[in-house]
Amino acid sequence: MNSVKSIVVLTGAGISAESGIKTFRADDGLWENHRVEDVATPEAFERDPWLVQKFYNERRRPLLSSSSLDQKSLEQEIRPNPAHKALAKLEAEFDGDFLLVTQNIDNLHEQGGSQNILHMHGEVLKMRCKSTENVFDCFNDIQVADLCDCCGEANNLRPHIVWFGEMPLYMDEIALAISNCDLFVSIGTSGNVYPAAGFVQMANQAGAQTIEINLEESLVASNFDQAVYGKAGEVLPIWVDDFLLSQPKK
Ligand code: NAD
Repeated sequence: MNSVKSIVVLTGAGISAESGIKTFRADDGLWENHRVEDVATPEAFERDPWLVQKFYNERRRPLLSSSSLDQKSLEQEIRPNPAHKALAKLEAEFDGDFLLVTQNIDNLHEQGGSQNILHMHGEVLKMRCKSTENVFDCFNDIQVADLCDCCGEANNLRPHIVWFGEMPLYMDEIALAISNCDLFVSIGTSGNVYPAAGFVQMANQAGAQTIEINLEESLVASNFDQAVYGKAGEVLPIWVDDFLLSQPKK
């Protein structure tokens, strides 16, 4: 590959699949046995905050460090897989600009060693005050009756998650990075969820090379210059090593 100066990587649920986190559109079309409309919309939170808090509490627990886990949660602990680690290696060894944009709400990229990362759909290890929009770390379950640290009100804390119908985070920063990149790599995302599914077209307009790495063709596969199909944990480490060999040393 020609010498590259700036990389943007987009990841989706598929990169965390081999760590044991179910993708969004697994065979049954449900997310962890729930309809998306029941757990991932602002309307669902208005209607049934107990169910929504419980759903994200259950997503949060296996990501917490071993010291804070009880025995049952420890058995379910989720760890980064070779694909997360390969992206951390790419960032550490690539001699140029690097931005990782993830749609994932887990912290497996951070656990795997990635540094420059934007969670465009929020983070399950954070919570937000509905009144002030202040964002806090969250390493415990959130209960509906919990009092908010900043406003002291009950029923005012929500998971710091971008739900369907809400505006993704960091869009200006992401658009700027894509417009300046010369390589765009999309990993483990189905191309169902916009605006992320449109990033490849933005990269094409910027003249970047575009590569899809996924288990199967995504809905936007035809927009990419190249594709590598397989499990991210198997194919991504090989792709990263080949790419780094093709580039000048740091
Ligand atoms: P998606 O579930 O719609 O698609 C996942 C894609 O990954 C599919 O194309 C699938 O073929 C592919 N895939 C599955 N296993 C793979 C593997 N081992 N290696 C490579 N590819 C694999 O996911 P999406 O496009 O990210 O959209 C889902 C939305 O749901 C996102 O907004 C995200 O925030 C949310 N979500 C997040 C998580 C998480 O944080 N880990 C998990 C589920 C859903």
